[in-house]
Amino acid sequence: MLHKDMGLVSQVFSVEELHRLKGNRAIGHVRYSTTGSSNVKNAQPFVVDTARGQLAIAHNGNLVNAAILREELESRGSIFQTTVDSEIVLHLLAQPRPASTAMAALRRLEGAFSMVLMSENEIIGVRDPYGFRPLCLGKLNNAYILSSETCALDLIHAEFIREIEPGEVVIISEEGVRSEWPFPDGRSAFCMFEYVYFARPDSTIRNVNVKAVRVRMGRELARLHPVEADVVVPVPDSGTYAALGFSEELGIPFDLAFVRNHYIGRTFMQPSQLIRDFNVRVKLNLIGEVVRGKRVVVVDDSIVRGTTARARVVNLREAGAEEVHIRVSCPPHRFPCHYGIDFPNPDKLLANQCTLNEIARYLEADSIGYLDVAGMVQAAQQSENQFCLACFTGNYPVPFDKELDKHVMERRRSQTHLIAEAGQNQPVLFPYLP
Ligand code: AMP
Repeated sequence: MLHKDMGLVSQVFSVEELHRLKGNRAIGHVRYSTTGSSNVKNAQPFVVDTARGQLAIAHNGNLVNAAILREELESRGSIFQTTVDSEIVLHLLAQPRPASTAMAALRRLEGAFSMVLMSENEIIGVRDPYGFRPLCLGKLNNAYILSSETCALDLIHAEFIREIEPGEVVIISEEGVRSEWPFPDGRSAFCMFEYVYFARPDSTIRNVNVKAVRVRMGRELARLHPVEADVVVPVPDSGTYAALGFSEELGIPFDLAFVRNHYIGRTFMQPSQLIRDFNVRVKLNLIGEVVRGKRVVVVDDSIVRGTTARARVVNLREAGAEEVHIRVSCPPHRFPCHYGIDFPNPDKLLANQCTLNEIARYLEADSIGYLDVAGMVQAAQQSENQFCLACFTGNYPVPFDKELDKHVMERRRSQTHLIAEAGQNQPVLFPYLP
């Protein structure tokens, strides 16, 4: 049985709906699409009927050879229902056998994929050979669970067993759990941005707790860009742990000046700059007393377009802050991600368009300081060559099609469709840039 819609889980699944679900296996997906537009047709999991029975998929990551694979499949008669790269995996797996085995089909995939597949008899976890995105295995009584993050296991009192290794395929059936290794060896390239922002702080990845990494990132940032100030305030919730580390390292009091409205969705995902600006303002309100007449350090995990940081500086100045210093717990984002994090085109990335001085001026900050790659790696307590740092360095572990962007499959299918979406593709302006 398939049920899916747009919105929060609690809005999509009522208790009655959950009671109607029958069977002893299920897969789910709560991620917005990073290829294809965000609409219900593109929402996962996808389910198809094949000659070998039903097959379902939930995928985290991006395939970098999606356009080529899709063209090849369409030329052989495949009909696609969506514009998401993940659907390609189902078509490859549905190909006639023994001409193509399941493992041979998986070997065709390039890029980032942590996936959970469900067939009529098995649940299968697949992690690409670079291990860009997380995937772990847990157990509750006699049931096995695959999850992106360990926090999901905690919530249902399941036991964490282990992470799925990069390049591993785990097959769970009535017979138990077994592994296959269909991919050639890759170098581990776990996405650093998972530690910086994406993962939940209560998750553990590669035996390191995410919250602890963020606090250490804040400490490293303070060592790299110290400042004399009266108070350190985070942009909640994303900057909270880094701000804590920053304040501890320099002995500057930590305070919560911004109050978050939890009923507003993710401002980052709004299609137009106007709506993003408005939502960023409504999302956080400021307690003026905390900052009035003070030298304030405001800490966030990342600056992408600059919308959030700029709005925060305006708030702080309006409330009477004497100085506003911005500190960011990762390096400047200069390059797009092709492996599943939704960053905009390079021309919309503030750090791609401006120098550090220009960024500070645009944000109207008294100073700005970013963490560097070395500090980030130090905070994660692993070696640099274990990570994908492409969005900071431009060194991409897996080559990608230069034309590749979020809407690649829509563009090749229909020019008219692209025009209808022009709002998303309009150039962004940094209107206040001197
Ligand atoms: P911006 O306002 O465009 O500069 O975006 C920066 C804010 O969005 C920061 O507070 C980040 O925590 C958050 N953020 C950064 N990257 C992403 C992403 N890929 N998806 C959602 N939020 C993000």
